[in-house]
Amino acid sequence: MREIYADNAATTALSPMVLEKMMPYLTKVYGNPSSLYGIGQEAKNAVETARQNIAKNLGAKSASEIYFTSGGSESDNWALKGICQRLKAKGKKHIITSKFEHHAILHTCKALEKEGFEVTYLDVYEDGIVKPEDVANAIREDTAIVSIMYANNEIGTIQPIAEIGKICREKKVLFHTDAVQAAGYVKINVEEQNIDLLSMTAHKIHGPKGCGLLYIRKGILINNLIEGGAQERNKRAGTENIAGIVGLDAALQHAVDTIDERTERLKVLRDKLIDGLLEIPKSRLNGSREKRLPNNVNMCFEGIEGESLLLRLEMNGISASSGSACTSGSLDPSHVLLALGLPHEVAHGSTRMTFDESTTEEDIDYILEVVPKIVKLLRDMSPLWEKIKDK
Ligand SMILES: *Cc1c(COP(=O)(O)O)cnc(C)c1O
Repeated sequence: MREIYADNAATTALSPMVLEKMMPYLTKVYGNPSSLYGIGQEAKNAVETARQNIAKNLGAKSASEIYFTSGGSESDNWALKGICQRLKAKGKKHIITSKFEHHAILHTCKALEKEGFEVTYLDVYEDGIVKPEDVANAIREDTAIVSIMYANNEIGTIQPIAEIGKICREKKVLFHTDAVQAAGYVKINVEEQNIDLLSMTAHKIHGPKGCGLLYIRKGILINNLIEGGAQERNKRAGTENIAGIVGLDAALQHAVDTIDERTERLKVLRDKLIDGLLEIPKSRLNGSREKRLPNNVNMCFEGIEGESLLLRLEMNGISASSGSACTSGSLDPSHVLLALGLPHEVAHGSTRMTFDESTTEEDIDYILEVVPKIVKLLRDMSPLWEKIKDK
């Protein structure tokens, strides 16, 4: 049976090329970068070389704007808590974000609400796109930060980041973006796009788990999230994850080098799959078709449970998801699909498939052969389908 991993938005396979670059730092060069002898300094050099290269690949002015973290969740927590707690003394107590952010942002906002911050959760409408004018209208005297994700992890919609960045810059409000899903699939340039803070993680782009970064524009004052040693210029304590950092750099470099061909190819496969699946009666694509990550397909098939579809896909060798990895396992409908205005019963029936450069046209053909059969089978067993099929 064909095995297809179609859950690259949850995590990706570590690329052999990346592992090879990491290996020396997992074996021979085990020194602590804070130590003065040879293997310590060698490790330190590896971290600083990665920092410079990553800064260049993100369009940052200086390597000193890149801070390594344990991943996307830490970076998101740090950006919001670090800025808000810093600006509170200046009377800033308002945060603007969207309804469909990753929980690393939403739950951080909830925690900050308990500390007295007020949060505006912007609508994302039916197409899953934040309107820049809504951001402009929501900004107040006391707004500390705007945080809007670059691309959504469930439905893959790409947000007008440069426009939002421009508005924030004009209104002198800090702008953070969670670019975990966009990195490697959309061209990011923090200078051109007026981004003040940006979160990224290695494991969504074929790098290792447990390593990410927060870009912080020079001159921005931010409180620490992790206190301790003097690493990361006194801003983020903890002995550096050298191999992880080297892996993050190698993964991003590969993604940047191949972005045009890779995304063009993926778009063709994605569109073939979307067109094929839309031929199933009462199916719909969730989120904008045009402003969408090249590797994301998220569909609803009315009358069936996303979870039952997933089980059948699994039996056929296809690993997919019913939404984000963090909410699946619970039976709550996805907060992202609810934010699009989908009714609960429809939001339950969604399936996300996310691809990578190893995905082939044969994989897509196989999915197109399997899914319509499963949907028919499940609908034939569904009492709900009896009621809605002729509507
Ligand atoms: C995966 C993900 C995160 C969390 O990143 P980790 O490195 O797993 O902590 C944050 N934001 C988005 C949009 C994600 O997809």
